[in-house]
Amino acid sequence: MTKKAPLVVANWKLNGGTDLICTSVASIRNQNFNVQVGIAPPYVYISELVTFLRNSPIMVGSQNVSKFESGAFTGETSAQMLKEVGCQFCLIGHSERRQVFLENSESCRTKVERALAAGVMPIICIGENAQQYEMGLTRDILYRQLHHTLEGLSLNGQSLAVAYEPVWAIGTGRAASVEVVGEVHQFIFDELVVMLGEDANSVQILYGGSVKKDNAAELLAIDHVDGLLVGGASLDPEHFVQICRVAG
Ligand code: PEP
Repeated sequence: MTKKAPLVVANWKLNGGTDLICTSVASIRNQNFNVQVGIAPPYVYISELVTFLRNSPIMVGSQNVSKFESGAFTGETSAQMLKEVGCQFCLIGHSERRQVFLENSESCRTKVERALAAGVMPIICIGENAQQYEMGLTRDILYRQLHHTLEGLSLNGQSLAVAYEPVWAIGTGRAASVEVVGEVHQFIFDELVVMLGEDANSVQILYGGSVKKDNAAELLAIDHVDGLLVGGASLDPEHFVQICRVAG
């Protein structure tokens, strides 16, 4: 099977600041990766990062987007605003947003529609928690998350990515095994084909959850693993650069 050029995305979560921006830019700006790289800092640093990375192929994105377009929604940031400041992608439905901020697949769907309409690539995060995994419910959970978010959607040539992030692997140092990732990514791809037909081939399926430089290559060698979403390890710019090198 021909592999797509991998996409490696850093999710800084609620971490970092001007110091991390400066060290990351210094580490990454002049590298020649054979992968597409993206960084999602907290909202307030997006413009600064976009400015520093101007004329570089590295994409800047956000960790969230509002389901609203405009109006009296204090604290929200619309897809159109993200586009205007130079965001090329946005994470949608990260498990921390689902757990802590009670986001559900319905709101994720609206966010995907808003992002696509604004020309910002959605990266939809899905994944089961530890209890669901142990009960053998992974496929049921992913099926629901995928179908509620994507059923009936037309991509019209626009880019979209799905990130499989088992909640029990996030920040635990315990990445999912090659066998689990292989089976789950095949399942996700098959469901994308059911929902999107031919368009499924253009959707990149990322794996996230305790990715490090030491496991990046074996994860990326798995069929239907088209990239990586990296949390903790992306806060160390040198480590993140090594992951991108391994990926390319
Ligand atoms: C994440 O939260 O998106 C993530 C992948 O975290 P970590 O790499 O730290 O497991």
